[in-house]
Amino acid sequence: MLGSVHSGDTQRPAGQACFAAGGWRGYADFLERQPDGTYEAVDTKLARSAKPAHVLQLCFYSEQLGRIQGRLPERFHVEFGTGERATFRTAEHMAYYRRARQRFLQALDTQPETYPWPCDHCGICDFRVRCYRQRVDDDHLTLVAGMRHSYGESLEAAGVATLDAVARPGFHERIAASTARLADGLAGAARDAGVPAVVNRVCGMFSLFFTAAGSVTNYRDVMGSDAARFRKFFHGMLAAGVYLAPSPYEAGFVSAAHGAAEIDATVEAAARVLADIARER
Ligand code: SF4
Repeated sequence: MLGSVHSGDTQRPAGQACFAAGGWRGYADFLERQPDGTYEAVDTKLARSAKPAHVLQLCFYSEQLGRIQGRLPERFHVEFGTGERATFRTAEHMAYYRRARQRFLQALDTQPETYPWPCDHCGICDFRVRCYRQRVDDDHLTLVAGMRHSYGESLEAAGVATLDAVARPGFHERIAASTARLADGLAGAARDAGVPAVVNRVCGMFSLFFTAAGSVTNYRDVMGSDAARFRKFFHGMLAAGVYLAPSPYEAGFVSAAHGAAEIDATVEAAARVLADIARER
């Protein structure tokens, strides 16, 4: 193999190691020879912490090392500009790597329709001007400040796909009215079950706290609420087919896709779950 240099109690071959197999190719910055004669891959990054892409990259190198040396390397490593190193156990990441690669290849095969939703990579992507142009031409929801992918998809599912639709009179009022229907319904269900709770809401956001305090207006109030009861409620709702924000400290969001039928079904499920919680006391 390549000539090597010492690095601590391992040996680090000089130069990059090229791996190519099955249409994939990559260059590991270093291979470190281990005391038992096998090699582990090391890649250097300017980042301050390891990213999923780094791990996937090193999984490919490790897979190829495993093929060549007849045994999967026990670990792989990312070295940062700070000189620090993150080490990962190869076996713990290979299943995810194989799954991600299979999904990637499947997407290439089927060519699913995609849309340039902004992501962390856009700032350094060669296509950023073209993608931004398309969003502007489409009057797309991503141009709303703070619009997240999940909110945008909910709005699209409700037939609201453009800025123009969001700006139509009454749009936000309708969401606020839906949120009020949900918050009042949840508060009523808790009251009927005899479970002390406070439901706060503003426009399309709501929060449910299990507390006998009567109001929740500050950090101390929030931390005084019953998180264990919230967890029971969350799992009960999940079993009933309603997926709420999983933390007692998170807000829920009502979208334009949530109509009276969905909200009433949610309140009915909450009434059943809260009745179960009340019986357990
Ligand atoms: S700019 Fe690049 S990363 Fe962003 S959506 Fe377009 S292709 Fe994807």
